[in-house]
Amino acid sequence: MITARRSATRPAHQGLIPIARPQLGPEEEAAVLEVMRSGVLTQGERTRAFEQGFATAMGAKYGVATCNGSVALYLALLAHGIGPGDEVITSPLTFIATANAIAHTGALPVFADVDDTLNLDCSAAARLIGPRTKAIVLVHLHGNPGDVESFKDLTEERGLSLIQDACQAVGATVDGRPLGAFGTAVYSFYATKNITTGEGGMVIANDARVAQTCARLRHQAYADQPYVHDGIGYNFRMTEIQAAIGLVQVGRLAEITERRRQVAAYYDSNVSKWYRRPRVAPGHGHVYHQYTLRVPAGWSRDEVRVQLQQRGVGTGVYYPLPVHLQPPYLSPRNAPCPVAETAARDMVSVPVHPALSENDRLEVAAALNGFTAATLWS
Ligand SMILES: *Cc1c(COP(=O)(O)O)cnc(C)c1O
Repeated sequence: MITARRSATRPAHQGLIPIARPQLGPEEEAAVLEVMRSGVLTQGERTRAFEQGFATAMGAKYGVATCNGSVALYLALLAHGIGPGDEVITSPLTFIATANAIAHTGALPVFADVDDTLNLDCSAAARLIGPRTKAIVLVHLHGNPGDVESFKDLTEERGLSLIQDACQAVGATVDGRPLGAFGTAVYSFYATKNITTGEGGMVIANDARVAQTCARLRHQAYADQPYVHDGIGYNFRMTEIQAAIGLVQVGRLAEITERRRQVAAYYDSNVSKWYRRPRVAPGHGHVYHQYTLRVPAGWSRDEVRVQLQQRGVGTGVYYPLPVHLQPPYLSPRNAPCPVAETAARDMVSVPVHPALSENDRLEVAAALNGFTAATLWS
């Protein structure tokens, strides 16, 4: 039965339980003040410390901080030699930035379907490998790691580069190993991501040449002497203010991830099993950037969202239109991706961030279960 119940601790004027909320506190505030008072606003020791600290936490040797995750992915592709005439296989069920980074190199994004984890299906990707294929970009959607071990084998066997779009998967692991152990990965520190610097990103790599190329291109392709440039570079630098926030956030990553996992575990056991969950492969350490449910066939995903909204629960759909169906990427060459297309119609994400109170998560579960009961009894 649905009743328009509102919790005593969340009066109407407080609005929705938001789908995302940055975790920033007094330590981040102090770190920002310190930078402002130091007079060193960019290219300083905090950026270097953040790069080192974050890369180490993600299981890689090198880190190159950038002004956002989109350009981090673009630099990583360039550093792996991707350019005009090449094809790069990726998932259609991702933020459009993944495909845009590929397109900006001059390469063609080729979309293979996802599996029931909602990540790129390794055999579907293998079938699309052709003479122009140079790389695979594996997106770890919603913080649920894709099958990076199979992709590592596949790309090594076929002589391709593997680049991980781990923008949503800060801290995720496979068999206890952080994603950086499997090769080049890029992260985003956008405001809604698991840790944030407002805007920001990083390439992490174990290959020194990949890291050096990214660092060089980020900073106008400086050669060894001042104002001598040996290529056409960019300004994709991160500020010291961002890096100072990032350093504090990395220190809190374990705690932030643990809290997300606790909320997810609560939903796993307390939200109706009528909603299917994307599969989490054995040994895969999901970091719940999003907690995603699949609305049963025949039910309306949009009606679920409306009902939750009325009960004060914000929701999101990541993503409602797969990239191979987005106007800039429509092409007769695109094969259908039925699994991604179905997921785009039936998935919905509910709040899972660390700022949720116990009462909030109870409200979220009650709203979802209320919808199930009303639908089943109608
Ligand atoms: C956020 C995100 C990006 C882009 O990161 P920005 O920091 O917003 O540029 C790329 N890919 C995925 C999967 C993302 O979620």
